[in-house]
Amino acid sequence: MANQEAAGPPSDFIRDIVKEDLRTGKRGGRVCTRFPPEPNGYLHIGHAKSINLNYGIAREFGGRFNLRFDDTNPVKEEQEYVDSIIDDVRWLGADYGGRVLFASDYFEQMYRWAVELVRKGMAYVCDLAADEVTAYRGTLTRPGRDSPYRGRPVEENLDLLERMRRGEFPDGSRTLRARIDMASPNLNMRDPVMYRIMHAPHHRTGGAWCIYPTYDWAHGLEDSIEGITHSICTLEFENHRPLYDWFLDALGIHHPQQIEFARLNLMYTVLSKRRLLELVQEGRVRGWDDPRMPTVSGLRRRGYTPEAVREFCRRIGVAKFDGVVDIGLLEHCLREDLNRRSPRVMGVLRPLRVVIENYPEGRAEEVEAVNNPEDPSAGVRRVPFGRVLYIEREDFMEEPPKEFFRLAPGREVRLRYAYFIKCIGAVKDPRTGEPAEIRCTYDPATRGGDAPDGRKVKATLHWVSAAHAAAAEVRVYDHLFTKADPDDVEPGQDWKSNLNPRSEEVLTGCPVEPGLASAGPGSRFQFERLGYFCVDNDSRPGALVFNRTVALKDPWAKIQKGHRAR
Ligand code: ATP
Ligand code: MG
Repeated sequence: MANQEAAGPPSDFIRDIVKEDLRTGKRGGRVCTRFPPEPNGYLHIGHAKSINLNYGIAREFGGRFNLRFDDTNPVKEEQEYVDSIIDDVRWLGADYGGRVLFASDYFEQMYRWAVELVRKGMAYVCDLAADEVTAYRGTLTRPGRDSPYRGRPVEENLDLLERMRRGEFPDGSRTLRARIDMASPNLNMRDPVMYRIMHAPHHRTGGAWCIYPTYDWAHGLEDSIEGITHSICTLEFENHRPLYDWFLDALGIHHPQQIEFARLNLMYTVLSKRRLLELVQEGRVRGWDDPRMPTVSGLRRRGYTPEAVREFCRRIGVAKFDGVVDIGLLEHCLREDLNRRSPRVMGVLRPLRVVIENYPEGRAEEVEAVNNPEDPSAGVRRVPFGRVLYIEREDFMEEPPKEFFRLAPGREVRLRYAYFIKCIGAVKDPRTGEPAEIRCTYDPATRGGDAPDGRKVKATLHWVSAAHAAAAEVRVYDHLFTKADPDDVEPGQDWKSNLNPRSEEVLTGCPVEPGLASAGPGSRFQFERLGYFCVDNDSRPGALVFNRTVALKDPWAKIQKGHRAR
């Protein structure tokens, strides 16, 4: 796999366009890209793809990358979202040069340009209500009809626009529209709305404005003002490109090139801010940063690294057609990265008590454990061992089937870094009939995990000494949805009917090795044999909380091996 990773700089159709523009000296041989989120929700992994693409291009071609909030709709936008987005962009490692830009800072300039278009007869004030505008617009097969206000004299338009701005008219009573072509085959060109009246305070401009620009009107202007060269967006804006171009040409100002690429879709989750907001508002998850959420803050809390997210973005690449990416690839990138960097520790999720009968009462010793076999510089640590231990419940079976090699009556196994133990009996819970405690003997000659006589065991178990263990809450996650496509629903149901009721399992009282008691939020570990875990934000000294980031097994690596073998 390493050979694939060592591939050269990324190459795709957008980078080809940029290279060609640099070769021909278009737009002064400059490169400036931007990431333009609307602050109406937290960022998700789809946004990470866009950030990685825009920032990556700026970096590779010696250009600039802008972080600009497209804050043109005061009703849905909040400072909380602005703050979270800045955090997430930083965490992803995109360098926006310390400048946070806001579309709302350009409102005055946008307004002046609107006046200019009115003067040129290219925009007019329309008194139709929203539903009338829709009715007049026509359909894909039927041309639209001219608004009765389309022929308004310039002077009257200027006066009405000015009064719209001053707040003389109620919400929805008038709009400013571009005067383009009501018969255009492209519906976006049928006199689109540029300004709507909204008497709503804005999170940055307060009460200064009561008319707000639409996305189509504002976006190209924002790009132009900032000297963006390549305005990269998702495919749903392809039909808007003629309008993007029309506004900039009508004003004769700097004209970036809009380029569309396929948005990221991911199996077993949803990537839509509107839907994610619904999950948060309905309390279906712990919040925007719930570790099950595909949000950047959720991934971070879950234990993802920015490196893993970037590697995932690099591997999925950039294309012009929509597809759905297997979430297994994201998890694979995560495991690869965590495998390199995570210290190994031992913890038990579902404990079963083991008493070693021939180990002296009251004796305690420490065994030496390797911190990271992938990284010798990580060194070793000492882990306490004792007469009473916990092992994983599923590592013992009273009547094991043929293929079960772990602990069973009469069976000998290795305890990692410690000794061979042999099961000599099980004490049952009288109520449930389930094993409550296992009785074992140990072989003192096997200290460190090898038998001097060369005898072999078929299993190595992780364990924690009962007398020394710290107790932790561990939250184990599964996919947020039960179906790869959450929109695949029964008649009459909606996407939320596919929410996975077992997406979070909370285990309490899990014994973990004592060295973890002081681990702070965000610290990541591999729990031997179990997976990767990180300390949750909810964790406190004395009340440890871990998230399981991802299990150890990696179906994706197997798939890839299969492909290479062929
Ligand atoms: P959502 O569809 O989740 O509501 P959005 O497109 O409305 O997201 P914006 O804040 O407008 O959210 O997005 C900022 C940028 O991120 C845009 O350039 C948009 O094209 C890009 N983007 C949004 N979703 C994805 C995605 N799934 N994959 C790639 N890029 C995306
Ligand atoms: Mg959008």
